Amino acid sequence: MIVMKFGGSSLANAAKILSAAKIVKGRLRRQPVVVVSATGGTTNRLEKLGEAAARGTWKKQFVEIVANHDAIAVKLGLEDRLLTGETADLRRIAGRIAKSRKLTEASRARLLSFGERCSTKLLSGTLRSLGVESSANNSFELGMLTDTDHREAKILPEAFKLLSASISKLPGVPVITGFLGRTKGGQVTTLGRGGSDVSASIIGAALGVKEIEIWTDVSGVMTADPRVVSGAWPVRKLSFSEAAELAYFGAKVLHPRTIAPAIKKSIPVRVLNTFNPEDRGTVIVSKSRETGIIAKAIAHKKGITAVNINSLRMLEAHGFLARVFKVFDRYNVSVDMITTSEVSISLTVDDTRNLKPAVKELEEFASVSVLPRRAIVCVVGEGMKRVRAMAGRIFSCLGREDINIEMISQGASEINVSFLVHEREVKASVRALHRDFFGK
Ligand code: ASP
Ligand code: MG
Repeated sequence: MIVMKFGGSSLANAAKILSAAKIVKGRLRRQPVVVVSATGGTTNRLEKLGEAAARGTWKKQFVEIVANHDAIAVKLGLEDRLLTGETADLRRIAGRIAKSRKLTEASRARLLSFGERCSTKLLSGTLRSLGVESSANNSFELGMLTDTDHREAKILPEAFKLLSASISKLPGVPVITGFLGRTKGGQVTTLGRGGSDVSASIIGAALGVKEIEIWTDVSGVMTADPRVVSGAWPVRKLSFSEAAELAYFGAKVLHPRTIAPAIKKSIPVRVLNTFNPEDRGTVIVSKSRETGIIAKAIAHKKGITAVNINSLRMLEAHGFLARVFKVFDRYNVSVDMITTSEVSISLTVDDTRNLKPAVKELEEFASVSVLPRRAIVCVVGEGMKRVRAMAGRIFSCLGREDINIEMISQGASEINVSFLVHEREVKASVRALHRDFFGK
């Protein structure tokens, strides 16, 4: 058995849904259980519909969303009344929100559920039209039990048994809603934006499948951003820790949080490209045993702000770091990279929304400078543990390019070396390192 999860971009229109169905049909031997996101863009449109309804006007958004789905169903030649129930439900909830002028978390979740409930029906209908036995299923009716956080719901432990019992009874190819769960009280919840990957990994873990395939619009995790390095290619295999390090940079592909339930059960997760289904993709495993490969990828992230905090009070004092980080905590500023010396702390922030007031408070006891337009570059690979003088290799390579490095961090895990440069120098850094570690 395998789980195949299709993201919104893989289901964005009738032609794409048909391609996805054909990919599933090509894997019947492996007994696929399919998990889907809403069709591309739908969840965002539903969010807007919710906000509009809370202001009292919702008809326009409602009509657009429904027409869009109906058009796909018609193009796919599916039955007329396929989405009638979902449409009526959407109208009812939107109307109710408009009447009360209030968008509660519970009604928001119910509203968003329209997306996955419809995409499930569209894909399983298409599978049937291709002669494949298939049913559309709501994960919340199959036992995807969650806590009562309607927006970012967490799965309850008892969900696993319920899911495995109910899904294994389903005939043919079950197509199941990603993203959605339900409380014990029976209310619909969502697992956070992008949550269909979580659904796939929970369902895969519950069923103890051989592999989880995440079908998306790229051929896996790349050795570097192809917009920067034109010769970059998909990494064949990543360990979970490597994937976790890379997620901060390329979180668009897969967030490791979402696949943790599968990795815990040693189920490999493979990222595949719906538009190039023959590509091998990247497989993420709990531990990678490859030898020979030192670095797996060179990642980078722009839009980073560096904050330098200097204070003589730090000299031989204790509690200073705690004091500094308490300030960041109070303002909900998330700190990513940190280096310290006896009298200074340098750190990076990528979300600067609350940085100003935090800096103001820090200035009460330290001198602070804020440097915007920085970039973090990071070399990731478990193989780096085995190799001596990695830092030497990395920094002499950058030295040859005359790149100015502003911060360096090598974690105790030894699977990543990160450093900070000005945004101007990020391309040159990534290209030089890619050339050095991967050749041409
Ligand atoms: N449809 C949901 C979203 O857009 C869940 C997902 O795509 O994974 O966030
Ligand atoms: Mg998605």
